[in-house]
Amino acid sequence: MSKFSPGVPYSRKNPFPARLLVNTRLNGEGSEKETRHYEFSLSGSGLQYEVGDSMGIHPRNNPRLVQDLLEALKFSGDEQVKNKESETFSIREGLLRHYEITQPSKQFLEAIVERSRAATELRELMHPERKKELDQYLWGLEVIDFLLDAPSVRFSPDEFVSKLRKLQPRLYSVASSLRAFPEQVHFMVASVRYESHGRKREGVASIYLADRTDENTRIPMFVHVAKGFHLPEDPDKPIIMVGPGTGVAPFRAYLQERRALGATGKNWLFFGEQRSRCDYFYRNEFEAFQREGILTRLDTAFSRDQAYKVYVQHRLLENAREVYAWLQEGAHFYVCGDAARMAKDVDVALHQIVEKEGASSPEAAAAYIEALKKEKRYKRDIY
Ligand SMILES: Cc1cc2nc3c(=O)[nH]c(=O)nc-3n(C[C@H](O)[C@H](O)[C@H](O)COP(=O)(O)OP(=O)(O)OC[C@H]3O[C@@H](n4cnc5c(N)ncnc54)[C@H](O)[C@@H]3O)c2cc1C
Repeated sequence: MSKFSPGVPYSRKNPFPARLLVNTRLNGEGSEKETRHYEFSLSGSGLQYEVGDSMGIHPRNNPRLVQDLLEALKFSGDEQVKNKESETFSIREGLLRHYEITQPSKQFLEAIVERSRAATELRELMHPERKKELDQYLWGLEVIDFLLDAPSVRFSPDEFVSKLRKLQPRLYSVASSLRAFPEQVHFMVASVRYESHGRKREGVASIYLADRTDENTRIPMFVHVAKGFHLPEDPDKPIIMVGPGTGVAPFRAYLQERRALGATGKNWLFFGEQRSRCDYFYRNEFEAFQREGILTRLDTAFSRDQAYKVYVQHRLLENAREVYAWLQEGAHFYVCGDAARMAKDVDVALHQIVEKEGASSPEAAAAYIEALKKEKRYKRDIY
């Protein structure tokens, strides 16, 4: 649980309540996405981060969903509950601030299976060997769905919260440099909104930030150091940055930092999104970096600008010779963003580049890339 202890240095255990300065949508009209830019004041916090780090943010749950849960549970909201640390608060407060109330925990599902005769499918899927099927079944289902499906199931307030996980902070890549924006931190966040089983759903933290914060909100946050994702110590070293979507956030910070330091190393950015017209985030800033000679190369991949899909890995392959030449010069290769597909596709492309341009066998290319990792020149921050 996050409590503020003034006088004690701010940390993960004692997060700083940061004031929101800016919340704007980055996509233009016609976009299918909602990606937002946030700026927070760290004034008076003494918090220091390095570009490449992330910040942990403590969100709050949606009061509408809390109300729906209370009604389904037949609670007024004023019932007092106790957490594992023996702290007492009303169940409404607990559901708003302290517990994960969207994705069901194993304990909650077990309690449903125990108490509801109707939950036959779920009961069968709870066998350990059916984990994959269970995950598929649970995709898009939340705690509220199980309660509405089994109205006869009863919990006492304490019992109910004991079945929930603690609400976890969410991490966001720092998108600014303290050298460019002293006592501030910027983020770039994709708003998670979707519909499933006939209900509108939302990501806890991304929508808390998007919809339920204003200049009066203080958001508890802390620095999450990403040791393996910092800029090269040597400012002369070239860097290649692959950051589609929100993956570009740390690279905006790198470029600000390198500009502020007067670093002479070359910088190459690969950015990708759906449409150049409405999803080219920070275009003016990146073009300004280019004009100033800080961004040596800027390659973009807009997947929906043409009939066939173009992604960052295709741009890497198109530029194979030069990418390899930069690696041979000692470039550090950074990847940030989607772990499920993009990072894997980029890794495959990197192997192909080394094979082709280094005239290597697949095994020799793999050894080359392994050596890059060992030298801490192939760095990823993927999620
Ligand atoms: C090191 C690190 C850095 C990160 N940096 C950034 C960043 O810079 N910007 C950024 O936007 N994010 C970033 N993230 C991700 C971020 O931490 C959150 O995971 C993300 O914002 C979602 O959090 P949430 O609370 O809004 O959603 P949650 O409440 O956590 O919900 C997300 C979950 O909703 C479910 N879900 C989502 N879509 C669907 C769907 N269509 N159908 C069914 N179920 C669905 C999935 O189970 C998914 O896991 C980073 C993560 C890490 C680990």
